[in-house]
Amino acid sequence: MKQTIRFEGVSKQYANGHQGLVEVNLEIRRGEFVFLVGPSGAGKSTLVRLLYGEERLNAGEIYVDQFRLRVLTHRQMPRLRRQLGIVFQDGKLLPSRTVYQNVAFAMEVVGASSRDIKKRVPHVLELVGLSRRRDNFPHQLSGGEQQRVGIARALVNRPSYIVADEPTGNLDPETGQDIMKLFVEINRIGATIIMATHAKDLVDRFQKRVVAIEAGRIVRDQLRGAYGYEA
Ligand code: ADP
Repeated sequence: MKQTIRFEGVSKQYANGHQGLVEVNLEIRRGEFVFLVGPSGAGKSTLVRLLYGEERLNAGEIYVDQFRLRVLTHRQMPRLRRQLGIVFQDGKLLPSRTVYQNVAFAMEVVGASSRDIKKRVPHVLELVGLSRRRDNFPHQLSGGEQQRVGIARALVNRPSYIVADEPTGNLDPETGQDIMKLFVEINRIGATIIMATHAKDLVDRFQKRVVAIEAGRIVRDQLRGAYGYEA
């Protein structure tokens, strides 16, 4: 099976006429770490939402391994979502569940056995540095810790790809850097990372592939690139 993400001539127009993406071509191979940068309203979130099937494209095709997103059926959606772990800016944690339960929940919804859950969740919490917080509720955690729960939840079903939309957007610079280091570690152990971000300092420091989007189009694609805009 070919393990890549490929955008071929992808356009997305919203119902109100706003153009999210315009004829985007992009290939992301297994193991890459890609920053998506660009001004606000450029189309970064649109790209991320198309990728995990939250929005539908109007033209072109997006391939995620064996899936073709334009013709994806409802039945295939859970399998696509298992291949893609999603991390949001605000974590989107369940407030009435503990750290452990938040992460376990992501496995329950895809039908994992309780035996697998009991084995896998502690392992992933250890990986993100939250073993000691497993019985805390989200409101008892710092912003950085909440984001680590979001990352653990994205990782728990062993996705090939982690897609993150502004994951350090609500964090102070130091915590943002710690979270970025965690993404680098996750990338090192095998996951492909696609991250939309405004964090200029972090993009410049971490020297990964940079794909810049403006007005729905890719205007730059550099290996070991820089952010390239005024923060
Ligand atoms: P970014 O993430 O780079 O800030 P977005 O992908 O959110 O950019 O937005 C790209 C364009 O699509 C903007 O013109 C925005 O107004 C429009 N857009 C984004 N989401 C929606 C939506 N749900 N409905 C209508 N227009 C949208």
